[in-house]
Amino acid sequence: MPTYLTTIGLEIHLKLKTACKIFCRCQNEQNFDSPPNQHICPVCTWQPGALPLLNQECVDKAVLFWRLINADIQPFSSFDRKNYFYPDLPMGFQITQFYQPIIQWWTVNYRIKWFEEEKKAEIHEAHLENDTAKMIHENWQTLLDFDRAGTPLIEIVSEPTFSSAQEAVEYAKEIQRLVRRNDISDADMEKGQMRIDVNLSIRKNESDPLWIRTEMKNINTFNAMKRAIETEYLRQKEIIESWWEVQQETRRRDDMKWESFMMRSKADAVDYRYFPEPDMPILQLHLDEDQSDLFIPSSYIQKCKQEFGFSKEYINTLLNDKQLFDFFFEMVKKGFEPKNVAKWIAGPLMKSGISSEEFLREYSQLFISFLEEEKKWNLMDNQLKIVFDETLETKLSPAEIIKIKWFDVLAMDEDALKAIIQEVISDNPVQVEQYRTGKETLLAFFLGQVMRKSGWKVSPQVAQWLIKSTLVQNQ
Ligand SMILES: [Zn+2]
Repeated sequence: MPTYLTTIGLEIHLKLKTACKIFCRCQNEQNFDSPPNQHICPVCTWQPGALPLLNQECVDKAVLFWRLINADIQPFSSFDRKNYFYPDLPMGFQITQFYQPIIQWWTVNYRIKWFEEEKKAEIHEAHLENDTAKMIHENWQTLLDFDRAGTPLIEIVSEPTFSSAQEAVEYAKEIQRLVRRNDISDADMEKGQMRIDVNLSIRKNESDPLWIRTEMKNINTFNAMKRAIETEYLRQKEIIESWWEVQQETRRRDDMKWESFMMRSKADAVDYRYFPEPDMPILQLHLDEDQSDLFIPSSYIQKCKQEFGFSKEYINTLLNDKQLFDFFFEMVKKGFEPKNVAKWIAGPLMKSGISSEEFLREYSQLFISFLEEEKKWNLMDNQLKIVFDETLETKLSPAEIIKIKWFDVLAMDEDALKAIIQEVISDNPVQVEQYRTGKETLLAFFLGQVMRKSGWKVSPQVAQWLIKSTLVQNQ
């Protein structure tokens, strides 16, 4: 039992999915898989005299985010300089929004316990800012890739509003679904497109003021985030129980070692000397409140749960992938059973490693014919799985695969077939004994019996497979 209450706040940095960087026209590379320093100019490398020019697409993405979460957007917002020096920021300041961020004060609804319980997260603000260059540490050297410098970020700062790892993680997942589904950001944590800092403090009672908090950085997955919260809780608890005080500090998480290390303490805390950015005009927004083209994933969760009876796995798979989600609803419109469609998407398709783009480009027609064949034939689950997998593997039509496999001659359910097999086995004890002592050619004899008794209405492959397994099981 925990003896202290945990209070968590999150800062989520999202890399915006725009064509250009935030203050220049250099390409906003999403994956950083090309050689370094390809998309740079005097602005994003901050040469003397270069002036920033705000990219409207970044503002549009922020406005879209505001509409999604129904927050108070600020009719006026402005940019400020956050002054500090670090090798990845040679100009000595970052352009961010400190005094008048673009979005302020709202709550985000999210769900915990398998989407059962609704929660509200209080959010303080969201602001636009530029990312720094990427530092690559190699052979005792540090290299800088300026392709990342000046790429647009939106930072979403929550209040200390979460009381468990589960709440913090589910909220972060909801944000990820929102921005992914509406093309604001790809929000892939492992690619650094979504970076989360966790603030955590513990206290004895709800009525106590918040105790001193620590900040954890370098968290790359939701599982790592959960572990970071749990281990930091234990670390702080241990400090307090040994009569020490938790120090206000920033800690870097090393998930491989299940530990975090101090990066800087409050004593080294930088005074950022924020002041209004003189090269950036004040932003004045006129808002169009039409919400028709918005997609709010959480509003589909109830539908998927209640109307379709979906499991968490199905919901997660569909809500995480915009293209598969649209495809799924297309199938439902065509009259296919929702749960069945989701079963093939969330299971075998996901496991096949085929990306959703590739699937929609090359396999969607085959998938539809598969669903049609499935309706037509009363095939066993194992057979359907074989047809599905082979369709993906060979790109042959499911109807052809059914013919090749002789599945089309099956017109009987599995239990009836098993009963026939049992009957044949009981009627032929001598042959069964011979088979079990090594005379495997007798399999053909059993198969013939079973096929005859079933009126040739079963596929020999399936019958043979079932006879074999029954003979082994009954031994
Ligand atoms: Zn540039």
